[in-house]
Amino acid sequence: MAFKPANNIQDLQYFGEFGGVNPSISDSSTYTFLSAKTMFDTFEGNADGCYLYSRHSTPSNLYLGEALAAMEGTETANVSASGMGAITPTILQLCGAGDHIISSRTIYGGTYAFFKNFTPRFNIKTTFVDITKLDSVEAAITKHTKVLYCESVSNPLLEVADIKSLSEIALRHGLKLVVDNTFSPLSISPATLGADIVIHSLTKFINGSSDTVGGVVCGTQEFINNLRNVNDGASMLLGSTMDSLRAASILKNLRTLHIRMQQHSKNGLFLAEKFEADGLKTVYPGLKSHPSHDLFKRMMNEAYGFGGMLTIDVGSLEKANELMELMQHRNLGYLAVSLGFYKTLFSAPGSSTSSEIPEDEQKEMGLSDGLIRFSIGLDADIERTYNMMHQCMVELKIV
Ligand code: PLP
Repeated sequence: MAFKPANNIQDLQYFGEFGGVNPSISDSSTYTFLSAKTMFDTFEGNADGCYLYSRHSTPSNLYLGEALAAMEGTETANVSASGMGAITPTILQLCGAGDHIISSRTIYGGTYAFFKNFTPRFNIKTTFVDITKLDSVEAAITKHTKVLYCESVSNPLLEVADIKSLSEIALRHGLKLVVDNTFSPLSISPATLGADIVIHSLTKFINGSSDTVGGVVCGTQEFINNLRNVNDGASMLLGSTMDSLRAASILKNLRTLHIRMQQHSKNGLFLAEKFEADGLKTVYPGLKSHPSHDLFKRMMNEAYGFGGMLTIDVGSLEKANELMELMQHRNLGYLAVSLGFYKTLFSAPGSSTSSEIPEDEQKEMGLSDGLIRFSIGLDADIERTYNMMHQCMVELKIV
């Protein structure tokens, strides 16, 4: 039977303490205990259902975590203060000194910088590979490898990872497959394809209103318990905890994610087809010209489409900047990083969100100067938007 992530979210019911249709927000950093013994047991991790201190867990954070776990089909989840606050403890929980990571070379710039510049301080080394070449992934495995890391749809090149095949490789070699699914919530369900751990930056589509940062790690109860362990849990000890008020507001936004993703995807496909027909070098997983179009189709939960992210290449950074400034001037979107907003957002990743990646490596992976990354908004009349964008491109002699 097909996996229905939105149904799984919808079927969860949480009521407020007075029967409110939204759960009450736990506005407390600490919790009382009726007996000293229960407090001790809670510290030891033996008192299920008791709250101790809000860096560890809160009712509001657990509600949001359970809804996201239901969406991803994992046993449970742990929410965090940001996407990086989900990624970094996960890696540090799985790896110690001497361990090795294999990562896709096209990933979010912050994650890339963490692997390239930060984890080597702890003698954790990373080999970056072309994740679409399964042979080179397998060839990079050493006896020290612990983690295989990728994004379902990569930032910013929109490469698509073959999660099922990667999970088979991971299983054969005893590795953990960690997948960042930020670009394709609902459309792709990595855990159902074999990923061990699924991460999101909630800052993007899931929250959808560009008013907060947030993150989540979805996985087994055992792994999430490990992350929260008071003695050696990386989430507990590094402290990137989400605030309860935010958890409550993100949960409310999550309720409309399925409708938003459908509209992002509808608008994304419309614009991608038009841009490609205009002769622009366009990358969008929903286009037949995308090298992994068929793979995406095999993996996707069809109702949610190919997502809201696309790129075009306008030849040079100068042209890219001119076009973005003109589109912003005409109120077609914002020249801004991030994604998943109601309004279209555009940026040139080479000089912004991927600037952590050295120029020569950017070139090698195909990240060109003239690349513009679009997060397509929820525009009610996407044909009008296209016509206005086309006009900008004509005026700048891009098409
Ligand atoms: N993963 C991806 C794919 C991202 O695009 C980002 C941020 O841009 C992150 C993780 C990091 O998330 P945050 O900014 O919420 O820490």
